[in-house]
Amino acid sequence: MQVTSPAFKDNAARALADPGLQKALGKAKGAFLQRRAEAVARLPEFEALRDIGRDIKNHTLAHLDFYLETFAANVERAGGTVHWCRTAEEAREAVLKICREAGARTVTKGKSMISEELGINAHLEAHGIRPVETDLGEYIIQLRRETPSHIIAPAFHLNREDWEADFRRAHTDLDPNRVFAERRDILAEARAKLRQKFLAADVGITGANFLIAETGSSVIVTNEGNGDLTQTLPRVHIALASIEKVVPTLEDCVSLLRLLARSATGQDFSVYTTFSTGGRRPGDLDGPQEYHVVLVDNGRSEMIGTEFQEMLRCIRCAACMNHCPVYGAVGGHSYGWVYPGPMGSVLTPSLIGVDKAGHLPNASTFCGKCESVCPVKIPLPKMMRHWREREFERHLQPGAARTNLALWAWFAKRPELYRLATRAAVAALRLLARGRGALPSLPFARGWTVGRDLPVPQGRTFMAEYAARQRRK
Ligand code: SF4
Repeated sequence: MQVTSPAFKDNAARALADPGLQKALGKAKGAFLQRRAEAVARLPEFEALRDIGRDIKNHTLAHLDFYLETFAANVERAGGTVHWCRTAEEAREAVLKICREAGARTVTKGKSMISEELGINAHLEAHGIRPVETDLGEYIIQLRRETPSHIIAPAFHLNREDWEADFRRAHTDLDPNRVFAERRDILAEARAKLRQKFLAADVGITGANFLIAETGSSVIVTNEGNGDLTQTLPRVHIALASIEKVVPTLEDCVSLLRLLARSATGQDFSVYTTFSTGGRRPGDLDGPQEYHVVLVDNGRSEMIGTEFQEMLRCIRCAACMNHCPVYGAVGGHSYGWVYPGPMGSVLTPSLIGVDKAGHLPNASTFCGKCESVCPVKIPLPKMMRHWREREFERHLQPGAARTNLALWAWFAKRPELYRLATRAAVAALRLLARGRGALPSLPFARGWTVGRDLPVPQGRTFMAEYAARQRRK
């Protein structure tokens, strides 16, 4: 996948000027927020469950080697095979090898962000194997040759008109005069098209929301049932998962599932929650003959023991991006790689480097909403600050930003001068405003005022107000 994170500012400017995208973002976001709020309100122990979720993940990360080895041993015991992959290249090769050994020409796929991270589709296509996305959102973006813009709703950036136009363009064998009166017509057409692909596939690839160490199972949640058909109909099932997906027990998994569905889609539980343990056993009516787990590190183990370890608690619910004002304004593609929103602003620099992804931790209002809704209490703003510090230490910011920060630090260490300078700045802004409440543009701060007005400071400076309150005490 091409990385455009270094061009975040240009991507964001384009996104803000795209009326179609703005319409889609506005509609989809509101629905997610309302449904989550209602689901949380229905569960009095939700806050306690968040603590439990955080603790389960912390415990697992503290003993990650043990739980991964236990998981692998139990997969093998159930007749499956585990492929340990340190890098994206190793994972791509492992998937290709399994597909080749199965003689695969067509591969169906359930929604999987790790597959996007590894570039599985492009790799299979380059070797003559046709991947077919079966999640409805993934299916349409595959038709459009795009990447997901959201981790649970890949086509978050599209409107109904886009769907209709793309289906007419891609499904040329169908009646051109057919009518798409409702969303259900789109679903029916996609279902009919995908049903043929499910039956033709030699291999099915899914992600995994969780891996359970004590049973050697992989778990996926979907609302469309496509994951079940992907993993049970073909002869071979590949579960693609990154190492932090492992949890110790079935009970731990269920606690996290209760958090996941409510935080993601506002459901008490997802429509389909499927546990896979090994391949088909004698007497089973269905299921794959071969079951493989491709277990991927790709930079995660380097996060262990650093200030970014807590990011590995993420259960990919997307609540942080659904509530993020920056994501809500610019959409997922602006972030320029696989993972958007606040979780992407922390994870992306960890996986592809802060030199490429330095804009992302800066693309935050620091309102703190992401942390407050995160079901496993990941301190996202704190970690974004860590990335800013690293960026500063490595001299990755533009010279002007570094000079301004140095100037600010110089004044901040000299309180008298700082107070004088802030008073002078406030006076200057008021003078420039000439009685208006806000400045539509400001020399030396055009980047800030190009998209919004700068409110003119009202009343006393913070320090003057603070001093006055202290005196009144
Ligand atoms: S960081 Fe938290 S809120 Fe965001 S996707 Fe991960 S688990 Fe969900």
